[in-house]
Amino acid sequence: MQEDKKIKVDYICNLKIRLTDMDIFKPLNLQKDSPDISKTEKSEKVRCLIIGSGPAGYTAAIYASRANLHPVLYTGLEMGGQLTTTTEVDNYPGYPDGITGPQMMENFKKQSERFGADIRLGIATAVDFSGKKHKVTFDDNKIIEADAVIIATGATAKYLGLESETKYAGMGVSACATCDGFFYRGKDVAVVGGGDTAAEEATYLAGLCRKVYLIVRRDVLRASKAMQNKVFKTGNIEILWEHQVVDLFGENGVEGATLIKKKGTSEEETVKIKIDGFFLAIGHTPNSVVFKQYIETDQVGYIKTVPGTSKTNIEGVFAAGDVQDPHYRQAVTAAGSGCMAAIDAERYLSELK
Ligand code: NDP
Repeated sequence: MQEDKKIKVDYICNLKIRLTDMDIFKPLNLQKDSPDISKTEKSEKVRCLIIGSGPAGYTAAIYASRANLHPVLYTGLEMGGQLTTTTEVDNYPGYPDGITGPQMMENFKKQSERFGADIRLGIATAVDFSGKKHKVTFDDNKIIEADAVIIATGATAKYLGLESETKYAGMGVSACATCDGFFYRGKDVAVVGGGDTAAEEATYLAGLCRKVYLIVRRDVLRASKAMQNKVFKTGNIEILWEHQVVDLFGENGVEGATLIKKKGTSEEETVKIKIDGFFLAIGHTPNSVVFKQYIETDQVGYIKTVPGTSKTNIEGVFAAGDVQDPHYRQAVTAAGSGCMAAIDAERYLSELK
């Protein structure tokens, strides 16, 4: 049973990476091509719709179920959210010995189901928030009409934008060490980035791989001191300070990367490293594109909420978790904001009666 779950999670992680590599998130841009919602037949009315299955979505589902809102939650492509691609979570209160991300999300899911949340697989491909009933289309064919909507769609890994990243998609390029590190056991790999994700992924890969290059564009790490110390203490991680990746090369997959050291200075130098795997860890983009026609976001795409609440600019539409949080982006803050969204939705719905 446990093994079944593991396989399922791995499958979802790997699917996400491969599809992300192939720009699968483009379907979220379907607004201009989206079907005319009013003409589609498969529709269903619900009181509370939750979109997203990370800590924010599941926490909203727990609270909404307990408030008798009978929430329907659509998971998105990456069931369980970003935590399914992390290893050990040591900073979520209540787990003195830590817990793995996938196990934690399985627990969140079970807890929401215990109170009756209806969890479904599906991706929001179009929305119509122009009327009192909020309409969301899933997988281009199923329309949910909801009195209240909680958007908890999280954020997605960023890529450098190199042509070779696309060329080697699924052939050595990955944005998830936990998902794909297994394939590089005993090999040499590189991780790009200087934040907590990069530090965490480099440390994780160092346990599997012969050597890990951590490619950092500045001469400092952005990662927390605790994560930095882990990196510094790991013998097979070599930090390449002030290096930028300009290309990847290889015959049948990634065999190396071309870097520029100290770009734009008198000491500028081209460096080539031999690697079998190339891991991106340079941050995330909020998954808000499908809502943008109606929902206000900042320049990056983070959904704007009324300070101290989960309310968006549309009445009855609330946002929680990383999709609206450019600052904290932690599992515990996402869960907290999911709770806020469910309470805000419950109050909104009680006033609708
Ligand atoms: P961050 O935004 O914190 O860091 C992104 C890193 O990538 C930065 O070092 C940045 O460089 C670098 N970068 C960005 N663009 C490029 C580029 N084009 N080329 C090279 N490098 C680039 O993202 P993270 O995903 O690391 O973290 C997000 C949030 O999640 C943070 O708040 C973090 O603390 C949290 N987190 C917590 C974890 C934990 O507690 N276990 C684990 C993982 C994340 P520069 O510094 O120069 O801007």
